Amino acid sequence: MPAPPEHPHLRADDPGLLEAVCEGQARLTPEQALDLFRMPLPELGRWSDARCRALHGDTYRTYVIDRNINYTNVCTARCTFCAFRRDAGDHDSYTLEPEQIHEKIAELVAIGGTQILMQGGMNPALPLDWYLDLLAGIKERFPRVHVHAFSPPEMIEFVHFFDPPGPTLEAKIRWVMEKLIDAGLDSLPGGGGEIFARPVRRKIGLGKCDAKAWLTTMYVAHTLGLFTSATMMFGHIEGLADRVHHMLLVRRWQDRVLRERDDDAPRPWGHYVSFISWPFQRENTPLGRVPDWGTGDGDDPDRDAFPGDVVARAHAFGEHEDIDYRELGPGAANFGRRVRRSGAVDYLRTQAISRLFLDNVFSIGASWVTMGPHIGQVALKFGANDMGSVMMEENVVSAAGTTYCLDEALLCRLIREAGFTPAQRDNTYDILRIHAGPDSPDLRVRDWSEHRVKRLHQQNAELTVGVS
Ligand code: SF4
Repeated sequence: MPAPPEHPHLRADDPGLLEAVCEGQARLTPEQALDLFRMPLPELGRWSDARCRALHGDTYRTYVIDRNINYTNVCTARCTFCAFRRDAGDHDSYTLEPEQIHEKIAELVAIGGTQILMQGGMNPALPLDWYLDLLAGIKERFPRVHVHAFSPPEMIEFVHFFDPPGPTLEAKIRWVMEKLIDAGLDSLPGGGGEIFARPVRRKIGLGKCDAKAWLTTMYVAHTLGLFTSATMMFGHIEGLADRVHHMLLVRRWQDRVLRERDDDAPRPWGHYVSFISWPFQRENTPLGRVPDWGTGDGDDPDRDAFPGDVVARAHAFGEHEDIDYRELGPGAANFGRRVRRSGAVDYLRTQAISRLFLDNVFSIGASWVTMGPHIGQVALKFGANDMGSVMMEENVVSAAGTTYCLDEALLCRLIREAGFTPAQRDNTYDILRIHAGPDSPDLRVRDWSEHRVKRLHQQNAELTVGVS
C-alpha cells in the first residue's frame, strides 16, 4: 500500500491534518513532527490516543510474557550511557553456560512465558558455533519458545568477529543471519538504536555500529522473513530534531521494505512491528556524570540554545550528516558536554509524537520498565497499545538504576485500570489470551500486598548469583 500523502504547507496543529493522520490518510512531515513538541501535552495526547484507537480499537491492550537473558556482559564497545558492560577479565564479567540459559527458560515456561529476549555484550571470545549450538539446544528443549535475539550491533560485531564471505556488508550480514535462523533464531530486537544522527552517535556509542549498519541489518532480517522492533533512547545530548530524524529513518526503511516486499520469496518478508522509546537512565554511567543543561558555566537557560538542538538544526534531519559541530559557533561549544534529561512529560510527548509520525509501524510500546508502572499506564493514553513484557529479569537498564519489576497480575491490573481489557500476545502481536473473565490473572487476586512492584536490581542480585 502506498504511503499516505504529506501536506507540508499545513501547520502541525491543523485539526484537519491531524484528523487525516489519525485516519491514516495523511503523513506528518519531519518539520510538522518537530513542531508537535510545542503542542500542549493534553491535546497531543488526545490526538495520539485517537490514532492508537484507530489502529488498535478501544477494547484490548496487550502484553507479552518473556524473559530478558543477557548471556554475557563482556563487550568491546564503550557506550557512554552503559552501566552493564565489562572487560574480559573483570572480576564481575560473565558469560552464561548454555545450561544456565536453559534453566532460565524453564522458569519462564513454568509461568506461561512464550518468548526470550536474548542480548549480550559484543564478546570476541565466543565463536559462531557457540551461538549455533546455543540456539539449537534451546530449540531442541523448548521448541515452542520464540527466540528474539541479537540486536543489530551484535550482528555487526558477528560480521567482524567471524569474517564471513561476501562482497558487501549486507551480504556478510545475510550469511551470518541465515546460519542463526537455521539454528533457531526467530526475530531480532531493536536494541542499540539509541539516536541515529551521526554527531550524537559518535559521542555516545563508542565502538558501536553506525545508523546505516543498524538499518541495513534490520533490512536483511526483514528480507529473510524476520519481524523486528525499533527503539530510541533519548533525553541525553541529542536535540529534539534528532529524535524526529531517528523516527524518520525507521519510517523510510519501513517504507522501503514494504515497497520491495517479494511475495514469492521462500520466506514471506518481515518488517518492523513495533517501536519503543525510553529516556536515558544515568546511574553508574559515564554519560550520567555529564552536567545537566543549565547547571554549567555559560549555559543559556533558553531551551532553544541547548547545544544538542543547535547541532540537530544544522544536521537538518540528515541532510548534513557530516557536519563538524566545532564549526557551528559558541552555541554548539558544549555539545556532548551537557545532557538534557527527560521526565514524564517529555517521555509522554515523545511517545505520542512517535505514534502519530510512524504511520507504518503497527505497535507502540509503553516503557514502564524505565518510567515506572504508573507512567507506563498513562502511556496507554498517549499512543501506546502495548505494555511490553512481564519482567522476570533485566540486567542492562537496571544496571543504570531502573528498578521496576511487575508480575502478570499487576500488569493486567494496570491495563484494566486504564480502561482496557488485558490480552496476552505473542511476538507478532497475535492475541493468545483475552482476560475478560473472572479467571483473569488480576481478577483472581485477593491480596494485592503479595503483588507489589518489586525492585528489579534486588531480584537480579538473586537471579545472577553464581554466574559471574
Ligand atoms: S550498550 Fe551494549 S554495545 Fe554498548 S557498551 Fe553496553 S553492552 Fe556494549
